[in-house]
Amino acid sequence: MEDCIFCKIANREINTEFLYEDSELVAFRDIAPKAPVHILIIPRKHIPTINDLEEEDNQMVGKIYQVAKKLAEEYNIAEDGYRIVVNCNANGGQVVYHLHFHLLGGEKLGDIC
Ligand code: AMP
Repeated sequence: MEDCIFCKIANREINTEFLYEDSELVAFRDIAPKAPVHILIIPRKHIPTINDLEEEDNQMVGKIYQVAKKLAEEYNIAEDGYRIVVNCNANGGQVVYHLHFHLLGGEKLGDIC
């Protein structure tokens, strides 16, 4: 989608190092990390929020968790633990309206729930 920063990253219109990529997903470091490891995993397809997911996206969302698991192992946070966060809309604190999964770890994270 035009004017979507994460579409531009996925399409390589903005130069960003990919930590993972395949035909459906890309992963890259968050520009303002909230933990020592802070990786964003996004679909290439423009899906604004979790509210916009459709049944046909189920496989892709499942794959995001597999990629998160693989990256957690690769960045040595799997054993100590990590958190996967998806913010949705204003009350959820969403700022970028292209679905993204935050993978956070590398330190003891504060309780949020
Ligand atoms: P959210 O609040 O869930 O919408 O999170 C959006 C995240 O995107 C924030 O953690 C930002 O730091 C991150 N972000 C915004 N622009 C970029 C960018 N160009 N590259 C990497 N991360 C970004």
